Amino acid sequence: MDESAPLVLVVEDEPQLRRFLRTALGSHGYRVEEAVDGAQGMRLATSLHPDVILLDLGLPDLDGLEVGRRIREWSQVPIIVVSARGREEDKVKALDLGVDDYLTKPFGTGELLARIRVALRHARGSGPDQEAPLRWGDVEIDPASREVRRGGSPVHLTPNEFKLLAVMARHAGKVLTHPQLLREVWGGVAAAQPHYLRVYMAQLRHKLETDPARPKHLLTELGVGYRLKVD
Ligand code: CA
Repeated sequence: MDESAPLVLVVEDEPQLRRFLRTALGSHGYRVEEAVDGAQGMRLATSLHPDVILLDLGLPDLDGLEVGRRIREWSQVPIIVVSARGREEDKVKALDLGVDDYLTKPFGTGELLARIRVALRHARGSGPDQEAPLRWGDVEIDPASREVRRGGSPVHLTPNEFKLLAVMARHAGKVLTHPQLLREVWGGVAAAQPHYLRVYMAQLRHKLETDPARPKHLLTELGVGYRLKVD
């Protein structure tokens, strides 16, 4: 195995899921190491310096959230939480304490690989930044000139709509929680007004999505926040 291939540490107690991850990641050029519980996960995170960690929340010894919190105390390694459906509170908590993303079981190989690519790109600092133009479908955003075009024609956005879109573009591919978005777009003032987000997101979808009722790019992450999907 190529020693320069990105190393993924899988912290997961279910043997079947570990086997799936090992196969899926191995066949796409990643090196994989496995931990079966939280204690081993923290040990291997320290000794192996993985490039990304896939962290199950339901571990036999420690709460996955606690494992993530402890690793985050000393390391900025991208952490992607792997969680069962219906635990939105846990996902929000995990994102708030600094994990980078989450995958909801069951998930497919394509989704898994896409999330890992995004996490690695952001970790390397070569992700979409504030000044780089970003495009998806027929939409193009130029943060430097604050221009948004759709099918080549300018789209008029209000300052707050643009701010919200720019924040999502800067973190393209990553889920952003409601508090993160409210903080970044409106500052502390409106932190308790989550309905602002729904209103502005609906306006953005109306202006940028082909079918605003079934968005393909400005996605809702139920109970958690939003994600801009560009690929
Ligand atoms: Ca588990």
